[in-house]
Amino acid sequence: MTKKLYIPGPVEVSADVLEAMATPMIGHRTKDYAELHRSVSEGLQKLLNSSEPVFLSTSSAFGVMEGAVRNLVQKRCACFANGAFSKKWHDVAQRCGLEADLFSAEWGQPVTAEMVDQALAGGKYDAMTVVHNETSTGVMSPLEDIAEVMKKYPEVSFIVDTVSSMSAVPIDVTALEVDVCLAGVQKAFGLPPGLAVFSVSRRALDKARTTPGRGYYFDFEEFEKNAEKHNTPSTPCISQIYALQHQLRKMFAEGLENRYARHRQMAEATQAWLMGQGFGLYAAEGARSMTLTTGVNDGRTDLEQLKKLAGERGYAMDNGYGKIKNQTFRIPHMADFTMADMTEYFTLLEELLPQVRK
Ligand SMILES: *Cc1c(COP(=O)(O)O)cnc(C)c1O
Repeated sequence: MTKKLYIPGPVEVSADVLEAMATPMIGHRTKDYAELHRSVSEGLQKLLNSSEPVFLSTSSAFGVMEGAVRNLVQKRCACFANGAFSKKWHDVAQRCGLEADLFSAEWGQPVTAEMVDQALAGGKYDAMTVVHNETSTGVMSPLEDIAEVMKKYPEVSFIVDTVSSMSAVPIDVTALEVDVCLAGVQKAFGLPPGLAVFSVSRRALDKARTTPGRGYYFDFEEFEKNAEKHNTPSTPCISQIYALQHQLRKMFAEGLENRYARHRQMAEATQAWLMGQGFGLYAAEGARSMTLTTGVNDGRTDLEQLKKLAGERGYAMDNGYGKIKNQTFRIPHMADFTMADMTEYFTLLEELLPQVRK
C-alpha cells in the first residue's frame, strides 16, 4: 500500500511535482537543456543570494558532502557534529584519506559559535564542516552566529550542509560568507531523491583548483567549466531538474517570506501538539528545527506499535533515528506540507495513541 509520508526524508511529493517529472526527455547537450539548467540555477541563486552559479549534482547529498571535502581540504578538516549526519561527515572525510578531527556536541544540542571558535583558534585547519539542521535530532544550529565567528578564519573553508533546511528558512550565502552550501532535494524541496544542489564561493572555486586528488565526478572545476555553458560535467537527472524548476516556480509564487512563515507556523504547532500530548521536546530550547520536530517518548508509549497502526491506516510514521530510535520520534513539517497536513496527522495519532499507551 502506498503511504502518505510523515518521515523526514524522502518527504511526501505532490502530484504536480511527479507530473513535472514526466516531461518528455531531452538531450543534455542541447539548447533546451541549457535553458532548463539556466533557469534552475538562477532560481537557486536567487533563493540563496549566491553571486556564483548554483551547481546541480546527480547524486544524493552525501555525494556533494564527500565532494566538498575532497575539493577543499588540503591540510586538515574540523568536523562539527551533534547527530548522525554530521558525525558521518567526519567518517566520510577520513575514508577519502583526508586528515579530519571530530568536535562533538551532545545530541539534542546545537553546534555553537564558541565551539567552532575554540576548535579553529589553534590554526590547524583549512576547512570545516557543519550541518545546519541535524535531521537525526531535529536541532537547528545557529548558522548566523557560526558565520560571524568564521569571518575570523578566512583561510578555513566554511562547508555547510543545509539538506533539511534550504528553502524552509532564509539562507544568504553571500552575507554568511559560506563557501559551500549544499542540499539534497528530497527534504525541504519536496522532490524525489537523487539530485543535490550546491553553491560554491569564488574563493572556494579558486582554492579547489589547487587541491590534488579531488577526483572527477565531484570536481568543482568541472562543475564550474560546464556551468558556463549551463550544463553539467556528466549526464544529469533531467526529469528531476524539470521537477525542481516546477518547485522553484511554486516557491516564488508562494513568496519566500510566506514559505518561511508557513514552516515556522507548522513547527510551532507541532511543538505545542507534542507537549499537549505529554511528550517532551528533544531539541534544546532555541535550537528547535523549523522543518521537523523530535518528540521524546513519555516512557509509556509503544512507538513501534504506533508506527505499525499508522502504517495500516496509510501513513508512514517515523519512530526515531539511530541510537535514539523509539526513545524519540520525528514529525516532519517541510516542503509542500501545510497546516492541514499537520492537523490530519495529529488527528490520526490522537486516535491511535490510547491503543499503544500503558
Ligand atoms: C538526509 C540528510 C543527509 C543525507 O542525504 P542523502 O540524500 O541520503 O545523501 C545529509 N545530511 C542531512 C542533514 C540530511 O538530513
